[in-house]
Amino acid sequence: NPIIQVNNLKFFYPGDARALHGIDLSFPEKNVTALIGPSGCGKSTLLRCLNRMNDLIDGCRVEGEITLEGENIYGKNTDIIELRRRVGMVFQKSNPFPKSIYENVIYGLRIAGEKDKKLFDERVEKSLKAAALWDEVKDRLQESALGLSGGQMQRLCIARAIAVNPKVILMDEPCSALDPKSTARVEETIKDLRDDFTIIIVTHNMQQAARVSDHTAFLFEGNLIEYGLTD
Ligand code: ADP
Ligand code: ADP
Repeated sequence: NPIIQVNNLKFFYPGDARALHGIDLSFPEKNVTALIGPSGCGKSTLLRCLNRMNDLIDGCRVEGEITLEGENIYGKNTDIIELRRRVGMVFQKSNPFPKSIYENVIYGLRIAGEKDKKLFDERVEKSLKAAALWDEVKDRLQESALGLSGGQMQRLCIARAIAVNPKVILMDEPCSALDPKSTARVEETIKDLRDDFTIIIVTHNMQQAARVSDHTAFLFEGNLIEYGLTD
């Protein structure tokens, strides 16, 4: 059953530049869905519509509807902070803060006003384990996150997304800045996450989509042209 439903979604950048032409698509729960297609086809735009990152751009326009667990996320009363807690995001270039590994993981919890040290400890361990990073960092949680390798930083950002207990995690080209070995580690991590989360991943790499996803949505020039089980 779908956790996110997209109905006739159109997205216009400032100046009425249309990037999405009317997308209908639903995302099954506890599944990995890959968004693929050539550069400029609208993958990132669609992904950013799902947690309203697109609202950061002045003068853009959204038409259509997106529901999360049956609720319109573009409603008048939508709490965007709450939405972003339920729909987390991992970016192409991992962006840890110049703080400890521990602080990086609990960042979202602090933002949410949480202060309970015991909860922090629990979430740090649970999230780092889920992101397959715990064994590598458990003895250096107070060291700077900037000392990690690229692949470790990317898994740290996955742990940071997990720590607030989201329903959905959006990933925008999460491996494109990584070497093959780190890419393999992150791909394994993504596959393991599907037991607990719904993952939506943008990739330009068809082989990667085939390796990690359950469903594939193929976009072309702002339209969804194919959707189905990944071969
Ligand atoms: P993809 O992720 O598939 O490469 P994007 O979603 O980034 O595609 O872009 C879709 C279209 O929207 C492209 O034509 C791109 O040039 C345009 N676009 C992306 N971001 C902006 C922006 N901030 N302002 C104007 N146009 C944009
Ligand atoms: P992606 O990796 O998503 O394909 P791009 O390299 O196309 O991203 O774009 C990088 C940045 O430039 C993004 O923030 C995107 O929104 C912006 N951008 C892309 N196309 C345009 C455009 N035609 N006009 C203005 N900004 C754009």
